[in-house]
Amino acid sequence: MVNPERASRAAQTAHGIRSEFVVQAKGEVVPRAPEAVNPNLATGEVELQVDELEIVAHSEPLPFQLDDEGVEEPLRLRYRYLDLRRERMQRNMRLSATVIAAIRRTMEDHGFIDVWTPTMTLGTPEGARDFLVPVRLQPGKFFALAQSPQLFKQVFMIGGLDRYYQIATCWRDEDLRADRQFEFRQLDLELAFSEREDVLDVLERVVVVSFEALDRTPPERPFPRLSYADAMLRYGSDKPDVRFGVEIQDATEVTRGSEFGVFANAEAVRFLVVPTALSRAQLQRLEEFAKEWGAKGLAYLVVDESGEVRSPIAKFLSDRELEAFKAPAGSTVLFGADSPAMVERVLGALRLHLGNELGLIDESRNEFLWVLDFPLFLRDEETGQWTFVHHPFTSPLSGHEQLIESDPGAALSQHYDLIWNGWELGSGSIRIHRQEVQEAVFKAMGMSDDEARAKFGWFLDALRLGAPPHGGFALGIERFVALLAGESNIREVIAFPKTASGSDPLTGAPAPATQVRLDELGISVKAAPVKSSGT
Ligand code: ASP
Repeated sequence: MVNPERASRAAQTAHGIRSEFVVQAKGEVVPRAPEAVNPNLATGEVELQVDELEIVAHSEPLPFQLDDEGVEEPLRLRYRYLDLRRERMQRNMRLSATVIAAIRRTMEDHGFIDVWTPTMTLGTPEGARDFLVPVRLQPGKFFALAQSPQLFKQVFMIGGLDRYYQIATCWRDEDLRADRQFEFRQLDLELAFSEREDVLDVLERVVVVSFEALDRTPPERPFPRLSYADAMLRYGSDKPDVRFGVEIQDATEVTRGSEFGVFANAEAVRFLVVPTALSRAQLQRLEEFAKEWGAKGLAYLVVDESGEVRSPIAKFLSDRELEAFKAPAGSTVLFGADSPAMVERVLGALRLHLGNELGLIDESRNEFLWVLDFPLFLRDEETGQWTFVHHPFTSPLSGHEQLIESDPGAALSQHYDLIWNGWELGSGSIRIHRQEVQEAVFKAMGMSDDEARAKFGWFLDALRLGAPPHGGFALGIERFVALLAGESNIREVIAFPKTASGSDPLTGAPAPATQVRLDELGISVKAAPVKSSGT
């Protein structure tokens, strides 16, 4: 409050103040007049009677107004420091810091020590491409930026650092999405002589203390568990959103010998019941959607409000089939008939799509879930080879070691994922600690001995020199914080994120390198860099 009678020079200065100017004021803190009290402000009962006022920094007109909610993201990111002044970003950054501090305290309280691992390394496979770093001292050679500290943390176990953790930055060259950035952080941890229950216990504690640090009611422990097989069967996803039902049901048995050829000939027939009688136009759109996910078509039965069944396929279905697909009035049965993997993919996508579209998801619910017992290998769709599901250091389930060679597709692993409301928060596993099992896994993935040695020889050597059983986990910090902050994109909880095209609008990175630098590194650039639009 500048009162011209009390401080006339300050009043004159005040006339020159514009939006976002930085000012310094000296004066007296006094109670506000009763009509000026603002209970919505922490300082709403007092005011500063200014005696001296100085403008210490000017601001040019802003590229956007701080209270404007509709500012395009590229503009927000170009002027992120202005964006950070806004309440939402202030809240998100502070929430993130509170959660990370709580996580660190929990880890330290449980005897974990924070040990740093290298950024530049030989590469740890986590299913993405490596970012490469050329080395001036050794032209033609490259470090890979660590996709995770995976092998280093396993080596800590061999090195006697039996409870390790780190808020580790990871780098993965993959397409960016709402829940993915090139660089992100993980609560990375590993424990020696641990079993699955020990690891899950630590993670559940971490989740609970994070809620508590934010004064929220934590989810109840233990978190529910679902096997990978059940998750795929019932939800068509290994990260199911269980805040709504519409579970997938199996109809393979009942459709054997069906008059409807598509069903009779399909390896798997499954369906889901949507609690709405969908219109023809809606069904057409859904069919397009299903086709985008790989389906050949979308068979359906609509049960209208009077219980009448409307469907081009009903006439081919036997009474037994119709009985199996019986749905209440005002609903629609949607079918998937194909290979099990395709049916899971399509019905899983449809379920989630309709859950959102029809408002079936109860947003007030917090559903944490463990998905367990993943397969050890999956077929790589491009090469047809067996490949790891998460990374190749995951131990098979006890008793499944023989299957690595004899029937890789049937081997289950000791891998587990933590899911929150359909987001994969993180993954972990009990690891292979015997070198012959590790070698067998590399072999099953089609890796020759030479290749295995070239890529992982140093690690196989370490496994030969007294490796204790061990396991661990990595929790995606930004995903976790985004969900805690109620944000649907991790960019909202990262101070300086990259845009979907992989650029940083603030600094203009990435940028071409000078010829001198390229020459020093022994690199010649073939293609001209694609000009980024900054979005
Ligand atoms: N290294 C794994 C990852 O980054 C996590 C783990 O298995 O501990 O996802």
